[in-house]
Amino acid sequence: MRISKSELERYARQLIVPGMGLKGQNKLKKASALVVGSGGLGGPVSSYLAAAGVGRLGLADFGDLELSNLNRQVFFRTRDIGRPKAVLLAAQLKELNPHVVFEPLRVKLDSANLAPLLKKYSLVMDCTDNFEARFEINKACFRAGRPFVHGAVYGFEGQLAVIDPRRGPCLKCAFPHTPPPLKSAAPVPGPVPGAVGAMQAAEALKLLCGLPVSRDRLLIYDFAHGMLHAVRLEKIKSCPVCGRR
Ligand SMILES: [Zn+2]
Repeated sequence: MRISKSELERYARQLIVPGMGLKGQNKLKKASALVVGSGGLGGPVSSYLAAAGVGRLGLADFGDLELSNLNRQVFFRTRDIGRPKAVLLAAQLKELNPHVVFEPLRVKLDSANLAPLLKKYSLVMDCTDNFEARFEINKACFRAGRPFVHGAVYGFEGQLAVIDPRRGPCLKCAFPHTPPPLKSAAPVPGPVPGAVGAMQAAEALKLLCGLPVSRDRLLIYDFAHGMLHAVRLEKIKSCPVCGRR
């Protein structure tokens, strides 16, 4: 895969990042990622992966744009309310970087369609907003042998982890007891998913370029108090997903 002169200029500032370079750029161009969710996390994640030149991006979201999305999903426009988010995001990102192939997927992902879909991508980005969907991604990634970058927000708190369920602890090891579903919409100040999504994208770039990544750490950003906590995750032998059965 050849990198054109205009691409060299486009990526000039990341080509000089130690550990990335032309070799890393080639890896990004050959890579693909499935971004599950085109909302507060999925927007910044897919924008930064597209801008960085990840060759192919699947954008999966079943929803249409709603007025109440716009306090945090700043890449959409008020005039587009009612239109499918995955399609809107793909069209906009194509204008940002025409070298990337975008695959808008307006599907509700479940255990049946997720497994065959994620085999088509080298990496999965978990930008969902509920534990049911996160655990489906976790299970499917374990089965397909794919890593995923988990991001989540609630109020002024954000979470981030690189999960590689065949190599390290899985998401079920981190959260053995599924929290009950929320009874109403989660509180979200806009900049929190913006920041966590950008951090997820940074982890994805390191993974795809082959740079060192921690696969056993849950980072908790407490934006309310300006604090960062790192929790060491351990593989649980009796884990129903990744443990020995
Ligand atoms: Zn596990």
